[in-house]
Amino acid sequence: MQWTGLNEIREKFLSFFEEKGHLRLGSFSLIPNNDNSLLLINSGMAPMKKYFTGEITPPRNRVTTCQKCIRTPDIDRVGITARHGTFFEMLGNFSFGDYFKEEAIPWAWEFLTETMEIPKDLLWPSVYEEDDEAYAIWRDKIGVPEERIVRLGKEDNFWEHGTGPCGPSSEIYFDRGEKYGCGKPDCKPGCDCDRHMEIWNNVFSQFNNMGDGTYTELEHKNIDTGMGLERLACVIQGVDNMFEVDTIRNILDTVCAISGVKYGANEKNDISIRAITDHARASTFMISDGIIPSNEGRGYVLRRLIRRAARHGRLLGINRPFLSELCDVVIRENKAGYPELSEKQELIRKVISFEEAAFSKTIDQGLGILSELTKNGGVLSGEDAFKLYDTYGFPLDLTKDILAEKGMTLDEETFNACMSEQKKKARASRKAADAESWRSDGISFENIEATKFTGYGENESKAKILSIVSAGEFAPAASVGEKVILVLDQTPFYAESGGQVGDTGEITAPGGVFKVLDTTKTTGGVFMHLGEVLSGELVLGDEVTAKIDVHRREAIRRNHTAAHLLQAALRRVLGTHVEQAGQLVTAEHLRFDFTHFSALSKEEIAEVEALVNEEIMRFTEVTVNEMPIAQARALGAMALFGEKYGEVVRVVRAGDFSIELCGGTHASNTAKLGLFKIVSEGSVAAGVRRIEAVTGEGVLTLIAEKQRLIDEASAAFKVNNASELPAKAQQAAQELKEKDKQIETLSDKLAAMQSANLFGSAQEIGGVTVIAEKISGSADSLRTMCDQIREKNPKAAAILAAVAGGKITFAATVGKEAVALGLNAGKIVKAAAQAAGGAGGGRPDFAMAGGKAPEMAQAALDAAVAAIRESL
Ligand code: ATP
Ligand code: MG
Repeated sequence: MQWTGLNEIREKFLSFFEEKGHLRLGSFSLIPNNDNSLLLINSGMAPMKKYFTGEITPPRNRVTTCQKCIRTPDIDRVGITARHGTFFEMLGNFSFGDYFKEEAIPWAWEFLTETMEIPKDLLWPSVYEEDDEAYAIWRDKIGVPEERIVRLGKEDNFWEHGTGPCGPSSEIYFDRGEKYGCGKPDCKPGCDCDRHMEIWNNVFSQFNNMGDGTYTELEHKNIDTGMGLERLACVIQGVDNMFEVDTIRNILDTVCAISGVKYGANEKNDISIRAITDHARASTFMISDGIIPSNEGRGYVLRRLIRRAARHGRLLGINRPFLSELCDVVIRENKAGYPELSEKQELIRKVISFEEAAFSKTIDQGLGILSELTKNGGVLSGEDAFKLYDTYGFPLDLTKDILAEKGMTLDEETFNACMSEQKKKARASRKAADAESWRSDGISFENIEATKFTGYGENESKAKILSIVSAGEFAPAASVGEKVILVLDQTPFYAESGGQVGDTGEITAPGGVFKVLDTTKTTGGVFMHLGEVLSGELVLGDEVTAKIDVHRREAIRRNHTAAHLLQAALRRVLGTHVEQAGQLVTAEHLRFDFTHFSALSKEEIAEVEALVNEEIMRFTEVTVNEMPIAQARALGAMALFGEKYGEVVRVVRAGDFSIELCGGTHASNTAKLGLFKIVSEGSVAAGVRRIEAVTGEGVLTLIAEKQRLIDEASAAFKVNNASELPAKAQQAAQELKEKDKQIETLSDKLAAMQSANLFGSAQEIGGVTVIAEKISGSADSLRTMCDQIREKNPKAAAILAAVAGGKITFAATVGKEAVALGLNAGKIVKAAAQAAGGAGGGRPDFAMAGGKAPEMAQAALDAAVAAIRESL
């Protein structure tokens, strides 16, 4: 095995898999894209989930990456164990329905033993105890002796998150040698000791967990692998600890140089040195991906890391800002693999320095106060410690460290009491910030089973509270006024999906009542009840009664069934090219988008509506059956294009009229819909139309709404009987038209009178009758007056100005004979407009222009007259 640098190992892995036909992708950002279930990317496969589920087509069906990862849950182990960082890099090769075990296993072996030259007898594969296939590949194809292939149970070697794709895994362990072992003769992977270190994990997702204890084979099997780059480097470089790997060691050495503390001399100092090293790496990468320190979510993770690093710096005796210097080293060591680090160097330095400075102020202030409080030794009161923590932001563990140094103790019980009191208050005052309280990103429900949905058959179910999430964190309880997320083991609340909105209702616990305002679910099928504690308190583990708002759900059921009938009717009326392109089903209405290329005619809309209503009045039973997908297709069930379905599907059927695959909740008989009414039809995108419609009570609301309009119109028109309304409206429109005509004639007359008057003030210039006047009237009347002047006297030329709304409008006209004499209306109006700060033009016999300076009206007219004079 040859010593190889971390950067070279990364490159070797990626090019190895490139040669095996994989597309090399750059690391995805640490910020998950469109995935609320995760705060930060924590594995190579995390950013590729949608490739695995088929929601998004991958750029190639085999891909290799080196992914930046952050694992906040590992924070407390960082510096203490040899193999955990909050930041690390994960190498991976992925197959999306392409190659499987037969290739994945030999390639892993080839890379480790040939490319990296790890001695074969130091590697131990593990397989899932029932995975004979993988076992056979290791034994027969690779030739690993049976005694070195370990079969492990579900806990170690089977990957699944609730229902959905899952499968066995096969890991590769490296034997670090006897000195790390427990000495037992049968020591091997799976043993608790440190001798065998997992370096590579191959996950074979080949089954679908149906949720009822059964597994079916997936049609498209996937490979998802993960290998910690730092751990592999430990093996290749023969070091004990990931912080001693070349590039990381360079950062660690800088910490030692700055602090003047020697590494390896004192375990407590070493932990601080390693923690600083890790946190500097993590912070640098987080900032380069656009994360800024804040008090929530990702920003809070970053703040915490920077503050921890700064604090460990103090513990090492560093009394000046130092983190930005470390960032420089992190960037230098990693820019080969991550060029974005150099681009963001300035920003990274600034953000780190600012946060470090702010924190150091807190620390200094806190230290000052604390030294006063500890003058007399003894026990520090819980209230004082809490004040330090709460008002000055001084970390409790730091207080404790200092007390310990002085041989003092802390009244922690009182501190905790103050803390929970404060939390209560804070929660109450946070009431307004709903969205914040209901944040679930950063929360991993990975250890929670998918919620059992009881709501197809029940409106009310007994259940148990499995978790409570408050402001993005798990909490043991929630009390009155708090807005939290509740997770139950089973629930009748439908979680928003397939276009059907989530249920609302109440969850009653022995000690309190929770009002559910919305229900959603994670990709792993964990239902989240979003709401507020109405009274008392709800505690983890409580046995509760969960009851949906039945009235609302009935309305939702009606609209969902109506959407199915609507789809069937559309296909009958418009043709079978109609496919669902999206839908929204609420208690108030349904919105159905579908493929179709032109607007529906009135007749088509009426026909669709009539078909649906016929089906409602036919009193057809709506049945729901689960069956294998093949059987459903044979029945002709409508499935959504591009949607992935499991092996067993739910088929919702209204007689022979409508058969669809659907997970939603439905009316048990079409008659329950009452009536169906289309409210609007329009376009949403090229080739996609949208219909909005109502049923049941929604139709009544619609009728009431229309009635109100009729009543208001009747009142406005002063008719007693609505049936007179159309005639009355037509009559009014007719009258208005006539009045318009009258007004037109009158204004023409008025203009004629005005223009006649204008000739009274005309002057003769070079044989042309010139009119230059400011008049009152609109731009339109200017035009009419000009027409009349021209008609009346072909030897006339006029420039007229009208002032309105802070603006000035000019019109110039030149009679036929005057045009022949060389006058041009366009030039005349231009001269006027220029004088009033505007522009314009037109024909030789008529032109208009606008100006911005009305006060210049007279000067503009004079300028126009001058222009006339010049032209003659
Ligand atoms: P462990 O039990 O040691 O924490 P894991 O089971 O959490 O490991 P996986 O989720 O299988 O690890 O991740 C795949 C690989 O990523 C591991 O084999 C390991 O090499 C690496 N890895 C996991 N967590 C860390 C970490 N905190 N720091 C460095 N490398 C890690
Ligand atoms: Mg782990």
